[in-house]
Amino acid sequence: MTTVENIPEQLQERIDMAALGARAAEHEALTPAAREELIAHIKRMLREQNAVLVAHYYVDEKLQDLADQTGGFVSDSLEMARFGYEHDAGTVVVAGVRFMGETAKILSPDKRVLLVEKNAECSLDMGCPADEFSAFCDRNPDRTVVVYANTSAAVKARADWVVTSSIALKVAEHLTARGEKILWAPDRFLGAYVQRMTGADMVMWQGSCVVHEEFKADALRDMKRRYPQAAVLVHPESPPSVIDLADRVGSTSQIIKAAREMDQETFIVATEDGIFHKMREAAPGKTFVLAPTAGAGGSCKSCGHCPWMKMNDLSRLAKVLQTGANEVLIDEDIRRRAEVSLKRMVEFARKHISPTMKLTGNA
Ligand code: SF4
Repeated sequence: MTTVENIPEQLQERIDMAALGARAAEHEALTPAAREELIAHIKRMLREQNAVLVAHYYVDEKLQDLADQTGGFVSDSLEMARFGYEHDAGTVVVAGVRFMGETAKILSPDKRVLLVEKNAECSLDMGCPADEFSAFCDRNPDRTVVVYANTSAAVKARADWVVTSSIALKVAEHLTARGEKILWAPDRFLGAYVQRMTGADMVMWQGSCVVHEEFKADALRDMKRRYPQAAVLVHPESPPSVIDLADRVGSTSQIIKAAREMDQETFIVATEDGIFHKMREAAPGKTFVLAPTAGAGGSCKSCGHCPWMKMNDLSRLAKVLQTGANEVLIDEDIRRRAEVSLKRMVEFARKHISPTMKLTGNA
């Protein structure tokens, strides 16, 4: 079993269970004919139930393709939520992790939101329990509370702002210009990146992503020597030493865009490996190599694989549509407060960046 640093011991068992569930999903024992039959059945159920499938870039490519083929959507969590909000379907089925289902429900309280896998979590969300986070906020009453999208509805409800990685720098600059000090949660690496780039006064929750924290700078330097023509694309949830080696730092959507627009033919990519499916579609013929996760003295714990994202599979999706299981329900008071901090970011983006700006940028 893997051991993950920075995660409280009591959560380790849940991570190990997720890894087992992910392996089961990856080895979904279906013949090609059975898979086609299952996909046809899922398509029928989506139609009959007026349901739409939204999938994250990190889930299995079969689910991403199914979302595309059925009029659904593949993106990051806030764009998934925005799509679900704007779509006229009565049911939004989320292939991703729990906080993504919650974000969809926060924006679409009158719709039924189903998760493909209810045990799919996120180490950033798990590592930031609402009661402990609230006590942290209480100890820092003079600070504006800014949380990353990868948090529970209850943590978002305690925040003043929710941000994505693409808007975090702008919000930090805006708050700093107004003389406000920031309390940041939960990702310490993304927080350190924002602090470094903006000079904002920040205190930070010490959370991390079990996938991104594994990328290793020493091994990446070696890899750059092996691929001297390659561009390095890094998600800002990665350690600062890895970010320092990047040609482009960006969110999932920005990484895909960089692969399409940059001239290089080869890219070393430091983010979850599910993203390669959309990168290959966006830039056919180019070569994508996963950044190394085991440097000198290190040991690979995630290997670029999010154990929870990989729990999502076709069989679980079919079961959820058959049974209506895994519905996301949020206490209405929490939902309303979370909606305020989420919509503050949306309004900020419209006013200060672009009236049509999309909410891209989280993991
Ligand atoms: S890849 Fe990291 S940030 Fe994304 S869901 Fe998995 S644990 Fe959370």
